[in-house]
Amino acid sequence: SMASPALLMRVVASAYSVAEKAATIVRNVMAAGDLGIVEKTGANDLQTKADRLVQMSICASLARKFPKVTIIGEEELPADEVNEELIEDGHCEEILKKTCPAQYTGIKEEELVIWVDPLDGTKEYTEGLLDHVTVLIGIAYGGKAIAGVINQPYYNYEAGADAVLGRTIWGVLGIGAFGFQLTEAPAGKHIIVTTRSHSSTLVNDCISALNPDTVIRVGGAGNKIIQLIEGKASAYIFASPGCKKWDTCAPEAILHAVGGKITDIHGNSFQYNKEVKHMNSAGVLATLRNYDYYASRIPNTVKQSLVP
Ligand code: AMP
Ligand code: MG
Ligand code: MG
Repeated sequence: SMASPALLMRVVASAYSVAEKAATIVRNVMAAGDLGIVEKTGANDLQTKADRLVQMSICASLARKFPKVTIIGEEELPADEVNEELIEDGHCEEILKKTCPAQYTGIKEEELVIWVDPLDGTKEYTEGLLDHVTVLIGIAYGGKAIAGVINQPYYNYEAGADAVLGRTIWGVLGIGAFGFQLTEAPAGKHIIVTTRSHSSTLVNDCISALNPDTVIRVGGAGNKIIQLIEGKASAYIFASPGCKKWDTCAPEAILHAVGGKITDIHGNSFQYNKEVKHMNSAGVLATLRNYDYYASRIPNTVKQSLVP
C-alpha cells in the first residue's frame, strides 16, 4: 500500500476544504444582510461578522486536525467554544495525490506556521465590491511561505446565473499553482495594481514615478496577486505600511510557485516565522515577470520613507 501522504500535503488538502467552507460563510453572512461591522483602528480598518466567523471556522478546523501547528489569524477574538457547525473536516483528494517535494517530506507539525486572513478586502466587502474579497490561508516553514490557498467566494458573480460562483486557487513551491489560468500581462505595457482604500501621497508618488500606462485600484492583497497571475496587471506596488503577514503569506506562496516575486519596497523578502512582526512596514512590490524593471525604478525618496 501507499505510504501516508506527507504532512504538508495533508495540511494543504485540508486548507482547501476549510477555505471552501469559509467562502460559504462569507456568502451566507452577506445574504443574511447583517454585516455586524466593527471599526478596529479606524473607518478604513473594519471587521464584520464574516471576518469573525470565518476566522473561528478556519482556525478551529485546522487546529483540530493539526494540533501542534502554530496558527496566526488576523482577528482578535474571545476564546469561546466554537460552534460545531463552523468546523470543516474534509480535504481535497486531488491535492493528496500530488507528490510532496522532497525537501518538505520530513516537516513536522511543530515546524509549520499558518497565517490566516479570514476575509481580505473587508472594506470592499462592506461596499458590495464582492469579487475583491478573498480568504487567505498561507503555510510557512523555516520562515518561508511554501504553500497557500486563496479562495475567491464571489468569482464569477457578475457572469450570469450559469457561471459557477467562487473558486479556490492553491499552490506549493516545487509543485506549482492550480485553480486558474496562468497568463502573462501584455508585453511592453506597464500596468500597476494598487490599493483602492488605503492610498497616501507616498503610495501615489511612487506609482507616478514609475510612469505606468494604466493604474488599477482594487481592494485586497489576495485579489491583487490574482491580477498578476491572470495577466491583468504587471506589478502590484504599495509604498506604505498597512499590509500584514497574513495578507502576503498565501499570495506569496502561490506567486512564487509560478515563478513570480514579492518583496517589500526595498527588495527584502518577507519572513513568516511565528515570532515575526505582523506589519509589512516597508510596503509591497510584486510581479509575475520583470521584477527588476519595477524594483530598479522605485525612487530613493520613497525607500527612505519606508523603514522595514
Ligand atoms: P488594500 O490593497 O488596501 O486592500 O490592502 C491590502 C491589505 O492590507 C488589506 O487586508 C488591508 O486591510 C490591509 N491594509 C493596507 N493598508 C492598511 C491600513 N492603512 N490600515 C489597515 N489595513 C491596511
Ligand atoms: Mg487582508
Ligand atoms: Mg482580513
